[in-house]
Amino acid sequence: MPEPKEIFGPIDHDLRVCGLAPSTVYAYLGTLELDPELVADPEPGAAVRSLAFHAQAAVLENLQEMKNGHSWPMCQGKHPHPMSLGSGREGSWPYWYCPKNPSYRFAVGEHPGR
Ligand SMILES: [Zn+2]
Repeated sequence: MPEPKEIFGPIDHDLRVCGLAPSTVYAYLGTLELDPELVADPEPGAAVRSLAFHAQAAVLENLQEMKNGHSWPMCQGKHPHPMSLGSGREGSWPYWYCPKNPSYRFAVGEHPGR
């Protein structure tokens, strides 16, 4: 079973490098119930993907209220859209990609920031 740090660490990173406070975003999630089956998976990819999905939804739904709120994760250059969440085979490590140029992508946890 992955440690919570393995699941939250990559999301924390991608929020921070984009100027968002992880604690603020998690507060919007309330009592997040990660699917026990995902958390029990020896590989953290599926749980990380689920948390990334919920964290992104929380950011996008609460942009107006958030200090320094902006779409997350930020895409390249002046793209106004957030990056999309993708993953390969089931359970593999998820990644962010540009919906206009899918070759522009980063593993979740390795977003380069602004
Ligand atoms: Zn883009």
